[in-house]
Amino acid sequence: MTEAPRAPSPDTLNALARIVGEDHAIRDPDAMAPYLVEWRDLYRGKAALVLKPGTTQDVSAILARANETRTAIVPQGGNTGLVGGQIPFETGQEVVVALERLNHVRGIDLASNTMTVEAGLVLASAQQVADSAGRLLPLSLASEGSCQIGGVLATNAGGMGVLAYGNARELALGLEVVLADGSVWNGLKSLRKDNSGYDLKDLFVGSEGTLGIITAAVLRLYPKPVERLTAMVGLSQLECAPAFFARALARAGAALTAFELLPRIGVEFVLKHGHGVRDPYPEPHAWYLLFELTSPREGEDLASLAETVLAQGLDAGEIDGAVIAASLAQAQELWRLRHLMSEVQRSEGGSIKHDVAVSVARVPEFITRANQIVELMIPGARPVPFGHLGDGNVHYNVSQPPSMDRAIFLSHWEALNAAVHEIVLDLGGSISAEHGIGRLKRDLLPHAKQAVEIDLMRKIKAAFDPNNILNPGKLL
Ligand code: FAD
Repeated sequence: MTEAPRAPSPDTLNALARIVGEDHAIRDPDAMAPYLVEWRDLYRGKAALVLKPGTTQDVSAILARANETRTAIVPQGGNTGLVGGQIPFETGQEVVVALERLNHVRGIDLASNTMTVEAGLVLASAQQVADSAGRLLPLSLASEGSCQIGGVLATNAGGMGVLAYGNARELALGLEVVLADGSVWNGLKSLRKDNSGYDLKDLFVGSEGTLGIITAAVLRLYPKPVERLTAMVGLSQLECAPAFFARALARAGAALTAFELLPRIGVEFVLKHGHGVRDPYPEPHAWYLLFELTSPREGEDLASLAETVLAQGLDAGEIDGAVIAASLAQAQELWRLRHLMSEVQRSEGGSIKHDVAVSVARVPEFITRANQIVELMIPGARPVPFGHLGDGNVHYNVSQPPSMDRAIFLSHWEALNAAVHEIVLDLGGSISAEHGIGRLKRDLLPHAKQAVEIDLMRKIKAAFDPNNILNPGKLL
């Protein structure tokens, strides 16, 4: 039985602050505030101290001291996580370790096609560094202007590019991690092949700060696309979407780098609240598919490729209409519809969220069954299912009925989650496609995993963090 973390004494807090220097240790409640609340205000925590280490050695010294004194540590990156993992509990006894100062680029290796960066580097900055070197870092999320490399690895983030390039796990070739006792594992390798035992890197990726603090990573880079085409398809029958996706993938192969699903209601929300975004079609369609073709080869004729796929889809009756962006500005406008999909739901009142995955072929069945359950449980509620269709990842969000009180609607959150997740599990899917488990879904995990899996996860946690100081109460 592991001991519960203890409240840190004033001596412990002073010793921790001395490691980073008083300038980088925050004790003032006002200055701490941004680290204690997540962006949707779903979780508000308290902390004994916020520490901003500047080096891996600082992180090592912090964890060594925390382990000796049984002080709970909450690692934090850009604080954009959507499951509450980066926010301390309300006890005020935990110490937040914010990685933002650990933000250097340690090197780019063009022959290996990799970059080595520190965990606190903001994702968009890492993308820019790769771009300046003539390469692509393909991880791309709507939160990329704030989220950090350590955070995206700790949550195994997905986003738009997973279809072609994989999620954060597939992009990480090596890691540097500070372990619970303060020892440093230097696994900063850039090897494509390394079958020398258990893959520790894969355990840390997606561990949500519960097994160690990631301080640096070697990331895989790709050739930069020089040709790009964006198209949007309208369809009346959601059931036809998987067949059209399969057709596009078979024809375009690696050139198909994004394939997203948008419902009409979501497009209407953007038109209403999205500041000047226009309707992509003169006639509304029940569903839209937004896809992108790219190529690193100059002069590659993506327009002919897209026209062939679209003509075949129209002939087969899978799609009802198509628009190919004629300019960069038009492509950006189509993508704005997709990028604003989450944000505009806030203007429509309360929204109950699900981040789930099923196989691509089962997405229509999932959405149909989930919509039926929503109507039964909360008549008039408005499902806004959208997301990365090419990965089978649906953000199954439900906006409140316009006339319902927000608090009453949100009181259905847990019951609706349970009903929707039951459908997901029945279809062999996952209750967390890309956002992780954190605090939000911790109690759902035992229902979604086999007992043998939970038991193994607990044993791994105990082996890596025997005193349970790393983000206790999150994930498990
Ligand atoms: P934080 O939120 O700070 O932390 C997240 C978790 O990682 C916490 O458990 C924390 O303890 C842990 N952690 C952070 N840094 C470290 C570290 N260095 N070492 C160990 N543990 C650490 N996610 C997707 O997958 N796909 C999307 O398309 C997507 N879109 C988003 C859009 C918006 C607008 C927002 C707000 C979020 C979105 N997310 C998406 C959520 C996503 O998880 C985060 O944006 C990102 O992966 C988290 O990075 P972060 O640096 O903000 O981490």
